[in-house]
Amino acid sequence: MSSVQEQVQELLKLAGDGRGGLKRAAAALDRLPDAERKEARSALMALAGAESAIEDTQGDEGEPTTKRLLRWALGREDEARRPGNPTRRDEDFVCARCGAQVPAGGARVRDHCPACLHGLHVDGPVPGDRAADCGGLLTPTGLERRGEELVLTHTCAVCGVVRRVRAHADDDPAALRALSASSGWRAIR
Ligand SMILES: [Zn+2]
Ligand SMILES: [Zn+2]
Repeated sequence: MSSVQEQVQELLKLAGDGRGGLKRAAAALDRLPDAERKEARSALMALAGAESAIEDTQGDEGEPTTKRLLRWALGREDEARRPGNPTRRDEDFVCARCGAQVPAGGARVRDHCPACLHGLHVDGPVPGDRAADCGGLLTPTGLERRGEELVLTHTCAVCGVVRRVRAHADDDPAALRALSASSGWRAIR
């Protein structure tokens, strides 16, 4: 791993560490010498994905704020750590928490219940890879906006793993609003 990659991992660790973490990570990134900062930013952009890079050029300020960039990269962090060629599984299921009959997601792997927003800790780093042995209930603990998308934070009730997953189009708006209000992110009203 290059030193830039190590630096980026450190920044992401810092950024994911509670609500003040993002601010501290952004400050740390902004303090880097010019050349290093540029490299770290482009590594983060690559992590955040091409979509975000496009939004970037259309943004108000011409380039994303350091905090926004870190937030995007955090959302993709798990995907970036993917092991080679995972088997994605997108299945219908009965929600273990609320009993809703949940259809498969289709274009996007169904990784949580659209009614109560809970999931099961069955996947490893990649949605649908079924690489985790835990099986604990993934409780929605946060909601944030990334570009046009809403991103849920899941915390496993058994092992405590924290995951970010994108909201689905059919997620219950009232449940999303309640989560937004309780998470303090005010992602939606
Ligand atoms: Zn449910
Ligand atoms: Zn777990």
